[in-house]
Amino acid sequence: MRAVRFYADRVVVEVALRRRRLVCPECGYSTPHRHNVREVQSDWRHLDLGVWRLEIRARLRRLTCPVHGVRTEGVPFARPGSDFTRNFECLVAWLAARTDKSTISRLVRIDWRTVGRIIARVSADELDPDRLCELFEIGIDEVSWASQHRYLTLVTDHQRRQIVWGHEGRDAATADLFFAELGPQRCRQLEAISLDMGPGYAKSAREHAPQATIAIDPFHVAKAGSDALDQVRRAYWNKLRESGDKDAARRFKDARWALLKRPENLTDRQAQTLADLRAAGGEAWRGYTLKEALRAIFAPGLTIDDVAHLLDRVISRAQRSRLEPFVRLARTIRKHRDGILAAVRLAVTNARAESLNNKVRLIVRRAYGFHSPAAALALIMLSCGPITLRLPHELHLHV
Ligand SMILES: [Zn+2]
Repeated sequence: MRAVRFYADRVVVEVALRRRRLVCPECGYSTPHRHNVREVQSDWRHLDLGVWRLEIRARLRRLTCPVHGVRTEGVPFARPGSDFTRNFECLVAWLAARTDKSTISRLVRIDWRTVGRIIARVSADELDPDRLCELFEIGIDEVSWASQHRYLTLVTDHQRRQIVWGHEGRDAATADLFFAELGPQRCRQLEAISLDMGPGYAKSAREHAPQATIAIDPFHVAKAGSDALDQVRRAYWNKLRESGDKDAARRFKDARWALLKRPENLTDRQAQTLADLRAAGGEAWRGYTLKEALRAIFAPGLTIDDVAHLLDRVISRAQRSRLEPFVRLARTIRKHRDGILAAVRLAVTNARAESLNNKVRLIVRRAYGFHSPAAALALIMLSCGPITLRLPHELHLHV
């Protein structure tokens, strides 16, 4: 330590590196030879000192790395390219996995996008490098992370119940990237892959892991039922509105949650709305009974024969329903019948997979406001991935 200066709102601590050798921040290559000394001082924000911001300042040298060319030397207390110390970043990552945007911004006084850049660095550093070994039962799924059509593909390890891989995009090419990273040997270990009913991931999975059983996640099937019902509801509402029955149209718009929520979760008023819809009969009620029948197929305790029987019955009811969204859904489900039954047989996808899925969806809502998919993915990995975050004092890192 060279000097400590106090200002009204911050404390600046000037330090000099004790080591003689210069280290490349990218690869750790070290050399006694310096290229030159940077003209400007480097600053890092460190953990606050009481009410003051604490800044570390040092004059760094530059070296020539045979791989990376001329670089400013790395320092042990900060990640390359960062304006924050590792301890500060560690605190931010710990907070980001636990609390909301405004709390973090106010407590540590940095904006949300900076939080995004920090957690992307921490996640890249701290992810367990062995997370792709020993994968046998996985799920591939998409999640939307910003308001408009931005998606991440996530891979779940069903056995450890963690997200182990993610990347921007949601098509076969994105899944191909995962299988490429896994490599042919580890691809051959895969026993089951659970998917939604879309064509993209399935194509990639069959190509790279043909020995694995493809299973269709039951909660995707149940969700497809809710989506079909929502289409029926909206079409019906538009018809009522066009026929000039304004009152009925408004009532029906309010019925959305009565129809889509699980019956056991309805408020008294929603339950009454549902009872009215039942009494009125018609398209919405027919759609509702189909949606519920589809959901009931995956109730715990049913044998595989029960499920096959119920599934076939729902398919034929939906086909005859004269509700276009359900007729289409019946076709899709019939096409994926084997995959749906495989999921039930293998029990690879159960309530636990769904709860991880719900956790991811809850967390990703906080990723709104990030501008890079890396930041959104980091937020998911910090909370649902193979990372153990510790607070600075638990790590014993010292500046
Ligand atoms: Zn290097």
